[in-house]
Amino acid sequence: MERYCYHCGRSHPEEEMRLIQTKGGARWRCIKSIEATKKSVAERDAFGKKVTAANAELSSYRMKIRAGTL
Ligand SMILES: [Zn+2]
Repeated sequence: MERYCYHCGRSHPEEEMRLIQTKGGARWRCIKSIEATKKSVAERDAFGKKVTAANAELSSYRMKIRAGTL
């Protein structure tokens, strides 16, 4: 049996689907799209951490220059 996936806008086999809670109530969504979203969020988080670390490094470098310790 196929279920309509609100994320893809098409139907997938039921065994590939998960019933998830959304603001609008319980809806069927495929595991593939759930995993893809999880992965992209993790990648975005990793990128954000890298940017934060680079900014911290840059600001400490600037502070050292200002303090005359470099
Ligand atoms: Zn889907």
